[in-house]
Amino acid sequence: MSMTPTTGLPARATFLPFAAPTIGEEEIAEVVDTLRSGWLTSGPKVKRFEEEFAAKVGAAHAIAVNSCTAALHLALEAVGVGEGDEVLTTPMTFAATGEVIRYLGATPLLVDIDPVTMNIDADALAEATRKAWRAKAVIPVHIGGLMCDMDAITQIARAHGMAVIEDAAHTFPSTYKGRMVGTLGHVTCFSFYSTKTITTGEGGMATTQDEGLAERMRMMSLHGISKNAWTRYTAAGSWKYDILYPGFKYNMPDIAAALGLAQLRKAEEFHRRRAAIAQRYTEAFGAIAELVEPPPDAPVGDVHSWHLYILRLRLEALRIGRDEFIEELKRANIGVSVHFIPLHLHPYYVETYGYQPEDFPHALASYQRSISLPIYPKMTDEDVESVIAAVTAIARAQAK
Ligand SMILES: *Cc1c(COP(=O)(O)O)cnc(C)c1O
Repeated sequence: MSMTPTTGLPARATFLPFAAPTIGEEEIAEVVDTLRSGWLTSGPKVKRFEEEFAAKVGAAHAIAVNSCTAALHLALEAVGVGEGDEVLTTPMTFAATGEVIRYLGATPLLVDIDPVTMNIDADALAEATRKAWRAKAVIPVHIGGLMCDMDAITQIARAHGMAVIEDAAHTFPSTYKGRMVGTLGHVTCFSFYSTKTITTGEGGMATTQDEGLAERMRMMSLHGISKNAWTRYTAAGSWKYDILYPGFKYNMPDIAAALGLAQLRKAEEFHRRRAAIAQRYTEAFGAIAELVEPPPDAPVGDVHSWHLYILRLRLEALRIGRDEFIEELKRANIGVSVHFIPLHLHPYYVETYGYQPEDFPHALASYQRSISLPIYPKMTDEDVESVIAAVTAIARAQAK
């Protein structure tokens, strides 16, 4: 049996991946059904997936696309973000949130996070709007599945004439003040990438209550071609079409939607398991509260999706840093990740906008002490306990 050098803790016999999708016979059967049907691209299953997803989140419209990145791009385009505009967002996010702003020739203006929730700080956002003359939109990112302060953000956006485009890549299913995420902003963008809470392999969804935005996004998701080009090859369709705008190629294929339909039916069961794992982690880490800080749960009445479980180390109480802590976990055969390397630390943003690490001190500090632990429905109780045992042993061995 291999031993971790500093802890003497027996390593797991097998590697525990940081993330893994839960794919059962239902998903396989649904995809096979699509393959046998002969209709592989956007068709009846996409339509059903959109309808069922919209019903689930209570949105009037849902547009299925091939990624959340595509959904964010379409949403910004639909609300009129263009060359020379500004879009406010958080540095604590994935590449996608920033790059879609650049796709449209707009400038990302970053706003620091709240040090407790790790979500965009509403007071800092209000302050930032005072200098953001050309801000057309704000993209709140509900990190890990914990909802941003949407009342405050909506109010600031309204006062400043900005659209609210939610990056909800982590939040299916989260609720805010009793409402499912999906109707809080002008457009809500979900991800079905294979590590997310439900998956279509690759895929995304944009939901909105606004018919005009829905029509624009739908049209632009398929080459800017007039209405329902994908019924072109059905009996009801026609060979004729008009290109109204130079759109994009963002439609979701039926093979992916088939996976999504099966996953959607299991979403609540998946969520119950994620929430139980989070609860167990938080309870267990209470025993080493002087060494690690568990992530906050959603306020009473709200629901956290628990896509991520971001544990923050109390570096002042430990002899090793975050990177070494991760190395120790790797030796214990446990895969982890970090969410996120803030945008303002990446070469593109440093070179283009001259950001310094200290420009967003809370994002920087959180990043330096964050470790995302494995949290997914397929994990067994033994897997969960092995993560707890390893984190506890390493933290205690490295305590000052
Ligand atoms: C995963 C992710 C995205 C991108 O999702 P894709 O479906 O892979 O395009 C966007 N924002 C955040 C915060 C994410 O974690």
